[in-house]
Amino acid sequence: MKLIFEKSAPGRRSQLLDRCDVEQFELPEKFRRAEKAPLPQLSEIDVDRHYSELNTRVHGVNTSFYPLGSCTMKYNPRVNEEIAALPGFTGIHPLAPEYSVQGCKEVIATAKKYLCEISGMDDMTFQPAAGAHGEFTGVMLIKQYHQSRGDQKRCKIIVPDSAHGTNPATAAMCGFEVVNIASAPDGCVDIEALKAALGDDTAGLMLTNPNPVGLFDENILEITRLVHEAGGLCYYDGANLNAVMGVVRPGDMGFDCTHMNLHKTFSTPHGGGGPGAGAVGCKAFLAPFLPKSALMDEEGHIQVRSFEGNFLIVVRALAYLLTLGKEGVPEASTNAVLNANYLMHQIKGTFEPAFDRICMHEFVLDLGAFKKETGVSALDVAKTLIDYGMHPPTMYFPLIVHEALMLEPTETESKDTLDWAAEVFRKVYELAHQDPEYMHEAPHHAQIGRPDEVLAARKPVVRFRPAE
Ligand SMILES: *Cc1c(COP(=O)(O)O)cnc(C)c1O
Repeated sequence: MKLIFEKSAPGRRSQLLDRCDVEQFELPEKFRRAEKAPLPQLSEIDVDRHYSELNTRVHGVNTSFYPLGSCTMKYNPRVNEEIAALPGFTGIHPLAPEYSVQGCKEVIATAKKYLCEISGMDDMTFQPAAGAHGEFTGVMLIKQYHQSRGDQKRCKIIVPDSAHGTNPATAAMCGFEVVNIASAPDGCVDIEALKAALGDDTAGLMLTNPNPVGLFDENILEITRLVHEAGGLCYYDGANLNAVMGVVRPGDMGFDCTHMNLHKTFSTPHGGGGPGAGAVGCKAFLAPFLPKSALMDEEGHIQVRSFEGNFLIVVRALAYLLTLGKEGVPEASTNAVLNANYLMHQIKGTFEPAFDRICMHEFVLDLGAFKKETGVSALDVAKTLIDYGMHPPTMYFPLIVHEALMLEPTETESKDTLDWAAEVFRKVYELAHQDPEYMHEAPHHAQIGRPDEVLAARKPVVRFRPAE
């Protein structure tokens, strides 16, 4: 397929409205281009066909089953997009007078109230622009709390080795020493290892539950109690709340602060690194340290972003919560858990789960034995799924399972789709026993099969350079 620049032909153009006859603002000379930008010249239908063709070459959540789940992109109801596009939300300015933005302030206050209820927290900020940014904000709250009490020796944050990479990175960014503790084989916290790590230099613990393997740590109340007894605080990585939203609250599990990725669980498309919102909630005793939304803050609060953060993401989150309602919120997460367990059981007997117990919103398949038997790797399976019209699941994560495939179907998939997905997995399993060679070279029907992933990550070509 040619790039749009290569399709360009001089003089080709589309119908435009006549030039506006109202006097326009002219940029000062020094800011203007000396030469015209080398933009492609095409007719309207060429442009239309170009983008329609591109659309057939990608696989997204709108195309077919997409088991990467909410951590990458769950299906986001269209109504949230429509509401976020209302001119009353898109047309505001951060310095607009207070009286003119009362509706937007109401959105923030209402979203805060509901998300505090869901997380079991007392107060919240929407300033952070991502999950990692939220972690930074939350751990700074912990730091300020200890400092405000003159407790200077608390310099260590405990992070289990199964944690999301952002957790140790955050603790280090906030100036803490990271204490890694080994997890139990199922990714849960090893209580003895935790006890050994705790001391009067412990500032806090960072944890996610369900853990990165998709299992709920049933010792959670004991874990948070032990940390508190040692004088530390507990930070809940609630980036993905899809398994527990409306069912279990981080605040009730004993956590003092948390972030929630509104762009994961609460319905904002974020594939490709789009804007996010890491809402940070905390218990009342930490609230005095929360960032304030004023531009200049005289009281010395931390300021992690200007104004109210990515406001339209908060609008989407509120629209999502209001359309689901008090009953719909827990229903969404219980359906997410049910769908994951259903699919896991349908696949079992061919590909085997790494942990044979009830999972939460996601589950891990361990293809170690399968690879020994057939020579077909998790990568080969992922690539073959593309030929069957399915997006590959997460591969080679979590690291504690070596030939891992991780599936998160989410709440919106029907039983029919899950049955189809399970059937595809069974077919692929049989194919591996009949024709492993075919799978080493899969996909056979995709636009791009096996790119050089290291080269693509290290030296991506993201810019067209016109020939001189
Ligand atoms: C996605 C995720 C993060 C990071 O969130 P970003 O918005 O990508 O910065 C942190 N922790 C967990 C468990 C996550 O799933």
